[in-house]
Amino acid sequence: MAHIPRLLSKQLSRFVSAEKLFQSKTPVFLPFYHVVSDQALPCILNYPYLNEKEFEQQLDFYLKYFKPVSLEYIYENPRPEEKVFHLSFDDGLRSCAEIVAPLLLRKGIPATFFINSGFVDNKELFHRYKASLVLTEMLLHPDAEAESLLLENNLTQGNLLKADFSQRSILDEAADLLELDFGTFLAEEKPYLSTAQIKDLSHKGFSIGGHSHKHPEFWKISEKKQFKHVRKSMNWLTENINQKVKAFSFPFTDDGVSRKLFQRIKDENICDITFGTAGVKYDKIDTHLQRYPVEQAGNLEENLKAEFLYFKLRKAMGKSCVKH
Ligand SMILES: [Zn+2]
Repeated sequence: MAHIPRLLSKQLSRFVSAEKLFQSKTPVFLPFYHVVSDQALPCILNYPYLNEKEFEQQLDFYLKYFKPVSLEYIYENPRPEEKVFHLSFDDGLRSCAEIVAPLLLRKGIPATFFINSGFVDNKELFHRYKASLVLTEMLLHPDAEAESLLLENNLTQGNLLKADFSQRSILDEAADLLELDFGTFLAEEKPYLSTAQIKDLSHKGFSIGGHSHKHPEFWKISEKKQFKHVRKSMNWLTENINQKVKAFSFPFTDDGVSRKLFQRIKDENICDITFGTAGVKYDKIDTHLQRYPVEQAGNLEENLKAEFLYFKLRKAMGKSCVKH
């Protein structure tokens, strides 16, 4: 059932102007990205990303219809009357400091960077990025031993990029067989921001938030572990950054996050505001907002028009709100 309104909104949105759709009453627009790079990144095969020129064009597109606002503005006005947008970036990748931030400063666009405390300073690599490197290496230099190890653990070339947090030691073993050294990759490529770069982003006026310690699939781990991941990344921020608003974005999605966990985060004063990735939707929890994942196939304007129309269709069906 769920895909029918999606498909319908894609078709129908061609007949409605962007102006009309974006000006209508909708939840606050919160587009988010991970990385911007002019080079191909072998550790990121799991989502499409933009080059600098494409990213700048998307920023200009947002500026045509929406006013850029800060995290503080969103915290104080989670359901603003004005048509505004707040930009964010997940996973704390180095291009945020080197490509994204200079461009945003030039254009006067505020943003929040959500950081995994376990990866800062290139201490460790996200398991899905490990999977990307293993897959790239296997395609370039097939290795029967590595392939059979992965197969024994139900990992194939087809599903490797969906490997989960509990399978990270299998990815380490496979890398070993492929003579692929994640430590060397981290030291040479430095995919992540350093603590100094994060502090510098904060000094330049950007907001920094938490994104869990090591980016596990929250829907696959216990509530106790979920809480530990939230708290650990938020503690790292408290120790290193001067935060005006304590913000957290759930890794991957907020699916599998119970009301109880939201309540505990609130009761223990860990976050002021949290974010999901469900698209343009309202949320039942008033301090939890949904963001729109921009890095997907297709044209931004068409995708966004379909997303806004999808919201309208769901609203007409009485289903515009995410429940937990
Ligand atoms: Zn992430």
